[in-house]
Amino acid sequence: MSTLASVDPQIADLIKAEERRQADTVKLIASENYVSKAVLEATGTVLTNKYSEGYPGKRYYEGQQVIDQIETLANERAKAVFGVNHANVQPYSGSPANLAIYMAFAQPGDTVMGMGLPFGGHLTHGWSVSATGKWFNPVRYGVRQDTGRIDLDEVRELALEHRPKLIFCGGTAIPRTIDFEGFASIAREVGAVLAADIAHIAGLVAGGAHPSPVGHADVISTTTHKTLRGPRGAMLMATTDEHATALNKAVFPGLQGGPHNHTTAAIAVALHEASTEAFRTYAHQVVANAKALAEELSGRGFDLVSGGTDNHLILLDLTPKGIGGKPAAQALDRAGLETNYNTVPFDTRKPFDPSGIRIGTPSVTSRGMGEAEMRQIGAWMDEVVTALSKGDAEAVIARVHNEVSELTAQFPAPGLS
Ligand SMILES: *Cc1c(COP(=O)(O)O)cnc(C)c1O
Repeated sequence: MSTLASVDPQIADLIKAEERRQADTVKLIASENYVSKAVLEATGTVLTNKYSEGYPGKRYYEGQQVIDQIETLANERAKAVFGVNHANVQPYSGSPANLAIYMAFAQPGDTVMGMGLPFGGHLTHGWSVSATGKWFNPVRYGVRQDTGRIDLDEVRELALEHRPKLIFCGGTAIPRTIDFEGFASIAREVGAVLAADIAHIAGLVAGGAHPSPVGHADVISTTTHKTLRGPRGAMLMATTDEHATALNKAVFPGLQGGPHNHTTAAIAVALHEASTEAFRTYAHQVVANAKALAEELSGRGFDLVSGGTDNHLILLDLTPKGIGGKPAAQALDRAGLETNYNTVPFDTRKPFDPSGIRIGTPSVTSRGMGEAEMRQIGAWMDEVVTALSKGDAEAVIARVHNEVSELTAQFPAPGLS
């Protein structure tokens, strides 16, 4: 970054500061990861200079000799990694990818169904403040209060009553396996299109650590930057070619202009990495680490929504600890443990000051940490939260931050110098 440092020292210094912060933090944010140096390098290339509206072989600009090869490679790799017949790597991010699904299969005002945001669904699954909740008629399912899990009988009843055009499954704060087959049979029964949004779990699906929606969902949407460990971006996929044209048209020209070619190249690199045996091992270790962390926290009196985890994610209800999610997340951050506050199902507190925090193991696993480190992290979280609930956490926060720094120094994060 020597050129950047001389042209714009202010931004260069801020990037360096962020790099130091990332290096010295135990990142437990479930939706984040560290991309490899190779993915970073592909992102920072001259591909950003090129306009390529259209698709390989059918562009609206000349000079696509190289870009067409890059996008075709990305598509072919997506198809191979996920076992699908169709892939589109152009969506700018997860939210636009989901919008494209609405564009392809629904009209404004149509009834659509998704998991409610407070239960773990995403904004774009029809939540009220999102365009998808304003322009469509959303019906929302949740989880059972006694189990913290989706009740497919309830989903089926809602679907039979409201007859949605489109059903979304998947979400942002779901600690349990998604039953794609169960959702597919409901969608078939009511004649809805089933969209599986695997943004969070795509890396687990690619690595064989979570069942695949392929063969069940009509369309699959995913971000590329969460467990899949690629650049910020998204993909739409379909098991068969039936919906290929509708999806492609919805992305371009329906919603977007030119694709971000530097991102496309970096997605191709990430998919190449995701096809390796090392990535399979990574995906399984993410889940093993989440289970170890869940066990440690459970043993220390934390209340885990649904009682545990099947994937990379743990949702903690801090009510029994006598502290809100936001002050806890802030104290943990000052101790070097980065999390986000989150609503829990049936939360009695407000969304800006909810009862829970959400944590996940994709990033710490990318650093090479294992179950022993997870137990240590669980112990630190307990020490900070317990001290905070007693009112005097400063000394504990300072000590834990020192210990966190010693740990992060032993496990350098990929991509950071
Ligand atoms: C993260 C996420 C998205 C949105 O992705 P952005 O890239 O932030 O727009 C969509 N759906 C789910 C389930 C997600 O977790």
